[in-house]
Amino acid sequence: MSESKTEPPPTLFICDLCGLNSPFSYYGQKPPNTRAIVLLEECFVAKDPFSPDKEKFLILGSCCSLCDKCVCVGADCSLFYTKRFCMQCVNQHLDQFPHQIRAELAKRRQSSSTTVS
Ligand SMILES: [Zn+2]
Ligand SMILES: [Zn+2]
Repeated sequence: MSESKTEPPPTLFICDLCGLNSPFSYYGQKPPNTRAIVLLEECFVAKDPFSPDKEKFLILGSCCSLCDKCVCVGADCSLFYTKRFCMQCVNQHLDQFPHQIRAELAKRRQSSSTTVS
């Protein structure tokens, strides 16, 4: 591998909510160099820089199925429930998610919020 100036810069995945950014190598449901992996959704995928194993990859994020925002897979930014939803859409359509999901979110909120007096 040689780095030349003519090489285009890597395409960056940028999370619309938290601003996380990282170059990605593939977008889709079946990352290259993997034998039998088909992802549940189209994702931004990057090779795992810490692993020499070609089949190791990281899922950076995906697009919200409602508003098309790019969001990372962080618990604060998106939720996967049959499809990917960004947290903004989740909050807007909270009543359409099953009780189980809402309870999970409420739990998260409680544990992450610091006591404000
Ligand atoms: Zn994010
Ligand atoms: Zn959204």
